[in-house]
Amino acid sequence: MTRIETLAARAGSTPDPSSGALAPPLQLATTFEHTPDVQLPHGFLYQRYDNPTQRETERVLAALDGAARALLFPTGMAAGATALQALPAGSHVLLCDDSYFSFRVIARDWFPRWGLACTIVDFTDLDAVRAALRPETRLLWAETPSNPLLKVSDIAALAGIAHGAGARLLVDGTFAPPTLQQPLALGADVVMHSATKYLGGHGDVMGGVLSFRDDGEHAAACHGLRLLAGATASPFAAWMILRGVRSLPARMDWHCRNAQAVAEFLAGHARVEKVHYPGLPGHPQHAVAARQMRQFGGMLSFEAAGGREAALAVAARMRLFTNATSLGSTESLVEHRASIEGPLSTTPEGLLRLSVGLEHAGDLVADLAQALEAG
Ligand SMILES: *Cc1c(COP(=O)(O)O)cnc(C)c1O
Repeated sequence: MTRIETLAARAGSTPDPSSGALAPPLQLATTFEHTPDVQLPHGFLYQRYDNPTQRETERVLAALDGAARALLFPTGMAAGATALQALPAGSHVLLCDDSYFSFRVIARDWFPRWGLACTIVDFTDLDAVRAALRPETRLLWAETPSNPLLKVSDIAALAGIAHGAGARLLVDGTFAPPTLQQPLALGADVVMHSATKYLGGHGDVMGGVLSFRDDGEHAAACHGLRLLAGATASPFAAWMILRGVRSLPARMDWHCRNAQAVAEFLAGHARVEKVHYPGLPGHPQHAVAARQMRQFGGMLSFEAAGGREAALAVAARMRLFTNATSLGSTESLVEHRASIEGPLSTTPEGLLRLSVGLEHAGDLVADLAQALEAG
């Protein structure tokens, strides 16, 4: 079997039969020739339904995730919301307590309108997960590692619990793209990615992905909803994501090495109370992470001694780490998550989240050292 590095490096690079071009074509057409009785000689009808650039990107993403089928969306939120809206009315969803905060807002403000119910549970406590199941539970929504506390939940154990209850397991794998973690191989039914992050990888394109272990009813419902609701990624976004994927394994390797160096520096620092990084042996789920991840990722967070004021002062003194939201790009970012998450936030006030980029690790550590030690 072709390994994931090889699949990624050659993504979309089959020579184009009409020109021999190695870079994949970007097809912008909104409509495609059909026969008078609407047979599709080329397999395409209308860009919102399907288009050649999106189809190629989805083929590559499905291969990377080991999926029967992958669907591309204009954003990660569009992908996640579609997976939820496609559930039958009356379904109950278990949402992990440290899930991306916008999904907690969806559960609170929109689930009632969609006829869905939700219980928020700590997915690192499997007994609590079992206790929260109801006969109408249809989906367990995990995020691992989670944002921003880097909690790691046991994908294989959660899949067993979900399947035993007649439910499916979805994993938001945004922090651990396919070269780091393979949730479908561990038993999950759906993997979601915000392609805005590591898959795109350069902070210049938005996208979302749902990869399905089987091309069954849930995949078909998500596909049907996408084309009717119009949540189709633009061909240009699809093309940019395909381009990002080609360097994904190489970039992830460097992100992970830099993050490990930064985490180890912070873990030994007197002005740091706590470091959340699954690659540190002291992380509460380090053993689970080591079992189910190939590397531990480029994201980490830490809690500054002195709480909110100290954290904001450290963030203000950073020079190389830019204060900005999002993650997964080449440049390092810092963010005070409690400030951006607002009233629903359960994030500690002293916590700063770092997206560790592709700079030299020594420069990143030096920036953190001056920001922590000044003042
Ligand atoms: C960013 C993010 C999302 C949402 O993705 P968008 O592309 O911003 O819509 C979902 N989950 C996680 C873990 C994220 O970091």
